[in-house]
Amino acid sequence: MLKAGILGGGQLGRMLLQAAANYPVETFVLENDAHCPSAHLCDHFVKGDIRNYDDVYAFGKMVDALTIEIENVNVEALEQLEKEGLAIYPRPSVLRTIKNKILQKQYYKENEIPSPAFVITQSKSELAQHTELIPAVHKMGEGGYDGKGVQLIREKADLDKGFDVPSVLEKMVNIRKEIAVMVAMNKEGETALYPPVEMIFDPVLNLLDYQLCPADLDQRTLWKAEAIALSVVRNFKSPGIYAVELFVNTEGDVLVNETAPRVHNSGHHTIEAHYSSQFDMLWRIILGYPLGNTDPILPSAMINLVGAEGFSGPAVYEGLEEVLKIDSAFVHIYGKKETKPGRKMGHVTVIAPTKQDLLFNANKVKNLMKVTSIVNRQS
Ligand code: ADP
Repeated sequence: MLKAGILGGGQLGRMLLQAAANYPVETFVLENDAHCPSAHLCDHFVKGDIRNYDDVYAFGKMVDALTIEIENVNVEALEQLEKEGLAIYPRPSVLRTIKNKILQKQYYKENEIPSPAFVITQSKSELAQHTELIPAVHKMGEGGYDGKGVQLIREKADLDKGFDVPSVLEKMVNIRKEIAVMVAMNKEGETALYPPVEMIFDPVLNLLDYQLCPADLDQRTLWKAEAIALSVVRNFKSPGIYAVELFVNTEGDVLVNETAPRVHNSGHHTIEAHYSSQFDMLWRIILGYPLGNTDPILPSAMINLVGAEGFSGPAVYEGLEEVLKIDSAFVHIYGKKETKPGRKMGHVTVIAPTKQDLLFNANKVKNLMKVTSIVNRQS
């Protein structure tokens, strides 16, 4: 039986392990926290730091194949393991490109993939010399996550809020829609695309608020999005699963925002709403089985359950019973002991034949459910 390792033990790893249970595969997880969402679902839990060379290298020596559920891993160790013949999804070269927003932007440019215009800034003083791009968005090269490490520079006065580390200054896009396309590529280079999803963001937390699938796009925009997402992945020349996040601007152009070379939040709905989920698909790729069917069974909406403002401590899932009464709702609680404002604690997928029913039930879930704690008003 193939031994497969996952670097990281969060909710993505957890759902990957749920899908692994259907296949002949022995699973290993490397993670520092023995109480992480993946710990009790894998066959072998290994305590260690995914950013540490020795920990990742030693973990890689235990398995036949490796994948990730977060980009923030030790790439040097993965490069060495790849040299020694280990199969890694995605290849370490892809991780190196994607982990750093500067390299990622250069990759799009070199491969003629449409993406917002940009300049590289090494320091705050260098940033101040690029007023020509304003309004713009300043993005830290490394270390940003979930909207942290992203600063809007709407006018000259905002330049002061920029980052004093190597970063990308990107022209601000007049966004009409934010969409994402999941793309799968197997070892033979065959690809499969999931239909684009459309995102709606929480303007305060800058976290995904809810998501619809399929995205409401005209035919031309759909074709552009699919062609661009495919081109991003094909040029990586690496098997794996990818989430390509795209902007549709007010002129109807499609531009790549960023890519994640792994299972992703924007593919959660595929568990119940599609024939083959993103997690099922990754196992098919790793185990050398045929690619799965990406078609939707029904349209879907996915609602992230994030920790409510003002609550930190042991999690309480208010409204869970009410949500479980909704016929078409599928609840996923990630098993994180403690909630914090904005922390991803779970998600709910609703499926329905019509957009009207979807939105009705998605809003119902949003209004019913709240992740709080018995310990109030701490942060
Ligand atoms: P993160 O990796 O932290 O999620 P992103 O690069 O995706 O950061 O940016 C977070 C959000 O900021 C995006 O979802 C989008 O709403 C906004 N944003 C990012 N880049 C631009 C841009 N060039 N123009 C307009 N808005 C942007």
